[in-house]
Amino acid sequence: MKLKKLEMALQKLDGFPGPRAALEQYQTPAPLAARLLYDALMQGDIAGKAVCDLGCGTGVLAIGASLLGASLVKAVEIDSGAAAVAKKNAALAGADIDFIIADVRDPDVPVRVGQCDTVVMNPPFGAQKAHADRPFIDCALAVAPVVYGIFNAGSIPFVTAYTEGRAQIAGMTGGSFPIRRTFAFHTKDVQDTGVEILRLKRTPQNQR
Ligand code: SAH
Repeated sequence: MKLKKLEMALQKLDGFPGPRAALEQYQTPAPLAARLLYDALMQGDIAGKAVCDLGCGTGVLAIGASLLGASLVKAVEIDSGAAAVAKKNAALAGADIDFIIADVRDPDVPVRVGQCDTVVMNPPFGAQKAHADRPFIDCALAVAPVVYGIFNAGSIPFVTAYTEGRAQIAGMTGGSFPIRRTFAFHTKDVQDTGVEILRLKRTPQNQR
């Protein structure tokens, strides 16, 4: 599937029914999601691989991974309402996804997910709750040796320090995340936020 076709397929998916600010529920815009997935595909991290989406929301990344030929896709989400939308989206897109309703902070989650080849995620940036992205990074590195995550622009020093001895940043693509007016504290119709798609590679001695 070509990048443009993937983007169009993701564009059709339904959004959050009632976005929850505390969970930082922002659907990844189709062009950014397609970019992440296509970069991962080109690196050999999607086709024929077991892929896990952490905090799948409405399923954009999980569904895209499935459309690009992942052999197995698991998707973890804390909010059952969002997961219900993701399930509907997956059925309409013809994507076969194993949904797990769980909190990534629960140490049991990596056990329930099992070992995967690749994690894709757009975790909360920690704007509502400081460090909300940390348990996502921890869970991701427990689940897979390769992780693609969307982070705020300028996150490289934090991610490097936080994953020291556990992983290395093996790639970075800059992008922009247009956030539409969703919550009362938003002051603009659309706010462009600079983001970085980081590819983390788990260091061999940290493989569990
Ligand atoms: N990955 C989706 C959604 C991104 S928004 C996309 O790219 O469109 C972040 C998602 O993480 C939300 O769906 C939110 O409900 C979920 N989330 C937040 N905290 C979580 C936690 N502790 N465990 C699991 N999911 C969580």
